[in-house]
Amino acid sequence: MQTGKIGVTTENIFPIIKKFLYSDHEIFLRELISNAVDATQKLRAIASAGDFRGELGDLTIRVSVEKKKKTIKVSDTGIGMTREELDKYLNQIAFSSANDFLDKYKDQANSIIGHFGLGFYSSFMVSDSVEVITRSYQEDAAAVKWTCSGSPEFTIDDAERSSRGTDVILHIDKDSKEFLEESRIEQLLKKYCKFLPVEIAFGKEQEWKDGKYVDTGKDKIMNNTKPAWTLKPSDLKDEDYSKFYRELYPAGEEPLFNIHLNVDYPFKLTGILYFPRIKSNIEIQKNKIQLYCNQVFVTDSVEGIVPEFLTLLHGVLDSPDIPLNVSRSYLQSDSNVKKISMHITKKVADRLNELFRSNREEFEKKWDSLKLFIDYGMITEEKFYEKASKFALLKTTDDKYFTFEEYEKLIKENQTDRHKNLVYLYSTSKVDQYAYIEKARARGYDVLNLDGQLDVHLINFLESKFKDSRFVRVDSDVIDNLIQKEEPKDSKLTAEEKNDLRSIFNVRTKSKEIYNVVIEALDEKEAPVVITQSEFMRRMKDMSALGGGMNFYGDLPDSYNLVVNPGHPLVVKISEELRKDNGEQLEQNAAAMKKLKEEVEFMEKEHGRKKPEEISQVEKDDLEKLRKELGDVEAKRKEMLETWGSGNKMVRQLVDIALLANSMLKGEELAAFVKRSVELL
Ligand code: ADP
Repeated sequence: MQTGKIGVTTENIFPIIKKFLYSDHEIFLRELISNAVDATQKLRAIASAGDFRGELGDLTIRVSVEKKKKTIKVSDTGIGMTREELDKYLNQIAFSSANDFLDKYKDQANSIIGHFGLGFYSSFMVSDSVEVITRSYQEDAAAVKWTCSGSPEFTIDDAERSSRGTDVILHIDKDSKEFLEESRIEQLLKKYCKFLPVEIAFGKEQEWKDGKYVDTGKDKIMNNTKPAWTLKPSDLKDEDYSKFYRELYPAGEEPLFNIHLNVDYPFKLTGILYFPRIKSNIEIQKNKIQLYCNQVFVTDSVEGIVPEFLTLLHGVLDSPDIPLNVSRSYLQSDSNVKKISMHITKKVADRLNELFRSNREEFEKKWDSLKLFIDYGMITEEKFYEKASKFALLKTTDDKYFTFEEYEKLIKENQTDRHKNLVYLYSTSKVDQYAYIEKARARGYDVLNLDGQLDVHLINFLESKFKDSRFVRVDSDVIDNLIQKEEPKDSKLTAEEKNDLRSIFNVRTKSKEIYNVVIEALDEKEAPVVITQSEFMRRMKDMSALGGGMNFYGDLPDSYNLVVNPGHPLVVKISEELRKDNGEQLEQNAAAMKKLKEEVEFMEKEHGRKKPEEISQVEKDDLEKLRKELGDVEAKRKEMLETWGSGNKMVRQLVDIALLANSMLKGEELAAFVKRSVELL
């Protein structure tokens, strides 16, 4: 019998393990089973090299729990260990800098373990003592038993074991009783061991017999030793990929298509990525990509390892070259990780491109579910944009799809304004903006449908990419001004006449939105009154709603323009009616205003001739008085016009029709409109 101290230079490894690796206790099982898998794989390798001539036999790794004895056992029939090996591997661990390292990376307990060859020792996180009974595959090797009870003291002794392999027996401590529940172990096996390359048995398959479930003689195998990503793509059919998807995410919706990754150089990477159907809300992506290291599950949080937009994909990545023993922020600067993430980005873009080229029709059918992913990728990854800009599609309001290049060609002729800017018209709601879309179409314009979650960002992004182009929402101005091809027409109205019209149409609505009345000389065939919303203001508000800062804009109420077309016969008629009703008063008011204006102007001129100190107080007061009188007369006119305007059924009707066309007439005002319409008929 041999006794001794474990060769750890720190005082005692166990307190460190228990203290720092606290949050990840459950990984002990993964570590023990990984060791068993390694031992089995090594034996297979030795056998295939011809250095082991015995029978390989049943290589299944068995996990069992004995609740009464409070033990968990992991048994393999791998290479086992000789007495010397046991001493070397389990006792003399190179662990000199463990304290420093653990201090620095205590949050990444999970990864330190593998890194430091601490895998086996993680069993002490849950055990009072651990026994290892092992027998090497080598001829005439004797079985040995190693025991250690949670202190640096261990014993190695002769043992009984008739055949090759290793049993690790954990005596579970009182704080870790949860691991004595079969359901808990089963859960861990499903999480970490689902795709290990050696069969893992846990208990027996059961069958229904005489009114209850009973064990059969058949092992219950917990894993699929040959998951699809480890096979050759040429050996797999579409169904195989679907089946594997279901294995990963039993409740997942059928994905659109997949990419099978297989790289050997300059890094190792295998995996299958699936494109899910993403219709809305990119936050809700429950089926995360799973990261494996030689078929051992490591994590399902790949942030920092692949570009953000790729985290929308589903599936598995398997690479021994991703250094998981370091912090996430370090990962982003690691050159292997960079290469891997570039490679994946490229593959994803290539795959999409291939689908686009080979079957455009299918690609278009899938576009609505792909759009969010592709747009997100283009906006956030320049490299992806470079490729995706060849196959990304723009969808029009009549459900046609164009590539960027095709669309530019389509609208170039008709939608270039007088400043040689190409104007992309778009709608964010085919229903709400119906009337505007129709108008634009009638002009021969095309209107894009950009009603998606990311489209506000996409528009800004594309404007930065497309030369001499801008995006304009179809309701942001009257049709003549949407794409200005000529100098704007000058209205024949005088400033006063415009002012009068503005007052007449200054009908306040009850809705919270505010609007400015704008008089705009349009064709007489155009609508008499139209509501528009400035592209700039609306976009600022949209951006701040998406959390892009700029809260100043977010707090402003929606602001609209009420555009009045003075050339329209109905507006002309309103002016005539006004003259009829209030002609005399208005003329009196105009005359008074004219007189006051002249007086003010005269006095201002007089004052202008003198030096400021030469103007007497009386003179100053006189001018002030005149200005006030003028202001009063103007205000009176405005009030008169506004009162008349709000009382005039036709004015109200025209404003309401414009609001209605913009889906802005609601509730009480809508009801009043309906009533008034009937009266007018
Ligand atoms: P790592 O697996 O990272 O090398 P461990 O502490 O888990 O570190 O194991 C140390 C060594 O002990 C292993 O490298 C292996 O040589 C040996 N070992 C552990 N478990 C077994 C096993 N079940 N069968 C054979 N050898 C084992």
